Amino acid sequence: MNTLSNRLLSLSPSATLAMSAKSAELKAQGIDVVNMSVGEPDFDTPDYIKQAAKKAVDENWTRYSPVPGYADLKKAICAKLRRENALEYEPDQIVVSNGAKQAICNAVLSLVNPGDEVIIPAPYWVSYPQMAILAGGVPVHIPTAIENDFKITPSQLEEAITPKTKLIILCSPSNPTGSIYSAKELEDLSSVILSHPGVLVISDEIYEHLNYVGAHASIAAVPGMQERTAVVNGVSKAYAMTGWRIGFIAAPKWMAKGCSTLQGQYTSGPSSLSQRAALEAWEGDQSCVETMRLAFQRRRDLIVRLAGEIPGLEVNVPQGAFYLFPKCSSYFGKTVGGRRIENSTDFAMMLLEVAHVATVAGDAFGAPEYFRMSYATSDENITEALRRIAEVLR
Ligand code: PMP
Ligand code: GLU
Repeated sequence: MNTLSNRLLSLSPSATLAMSAKSAELKAQGIDVVNMSVGEPDFDTPDYIKQAAKKAVDENWTRYSPVPGYADLKKAICAKLRRENALEYEPDQIVVSNGAKQAICNAVLSLVNPGDEVIIPAPYWVSYPQMAILAGGVPVHIPTAIENDFKITPSQLEEAITPKTKLIILCSPSNPTGSIYSAKELEDLSSVILSHPGVLVISDEIYEHLNYVGAHASIAAVPGMQERTAVVNGVSKAYAMTGWRIGFIAAPKWMAKGCSTLQGQYTSGPSSLSQRAALEAWEGDQSCVETMRLAFQRRRDLIVRLAGEIPGLEVNVPQGAFYLFPKCSSYFGKTVGGRRIENSTDFAMMLLEVAHVATVAGDAFGAPEYFRMSYATSDENITEALRRIAEVLR
């Protein structure tokens, strides 16, 4: 018997997490898989952050926290937003959640009514449309391609907005493309948004610090936009803290209050110990962020060079995050490694089962001609993965 709710039946599982699980399964069978599927730093959480968590255990930070997070953590987040983004927020505009993922989902569920349109540029992070669907909303995609570095233009945005548009979800630096919107590009998109009263923005800035071209720009810094925007960020990527599950929104008070009400009925405040660790991450020595950024930049250069040498793959130079998003459609309709390739799922499955490299098919990101490789792994793994891919594609 299966009596799952319609809400759940309309939901698909996370393709990134599914591919990662599949890769772990093959590994458990003794197959030597290079895993470039899930996007998470391969670094350990820095010691000073771990120390703060150990101290928090001994000091008995073991009870429920306030639903939107500890007061001192919210203050530290306001200080971070001031220091790094020149954005002014009060602590009651911050809601700390179980990762940026819950922060985004809180905001979507708090804002979207059934039938509301949610504009999501494609390629998109796999969870955005699913969250919109969960809220009863209608995802509206704006397609982009590698030729324009996967960025939408103001006129594309203007065309996509209708009287039903409630929300736009932007991600810069982007997962899965690594593209970054400049301050000027965000200003141009903002002029369109500001001409449509009532249209709100979720700005996912979780990859803020993985930027290889210069200063991070937040759309909330464009005059008039802060009142319309929920800025999302967290410690997962910048501080190698994916398992700690701490993210936040910084938003207009009414929006933050809504997210806090939802969270209070749903999960309560996030882990007390993780919040103490996150406080140390934002307040402590920041040099680990730059050390990891430089490592990712070096790996980006390596993977761009190696992938660029493989005929049939079209590659751009991603400006941030830790993903390469090559176009693989030149292989569609061909037989590779003994497999017939009709789409990017076939392509990614062939890479996994024949070359033993785990990637994620572009379909899940709304870009069926592409596939995603996470280069948040060692230089040796990157070199070996690309050697295997080159061999099977030869
Ligand atoms: N947004 C994007 C674009 C991501 O890639 C991720 C990583 N899964 C998240 C949000 C969620 O981050 P967290 O691990 O903090 O929930
Ligand atoms: N952000 C990562 C990814 O896209 C983590 C997996 C997930 O949360 O979907 O691979």
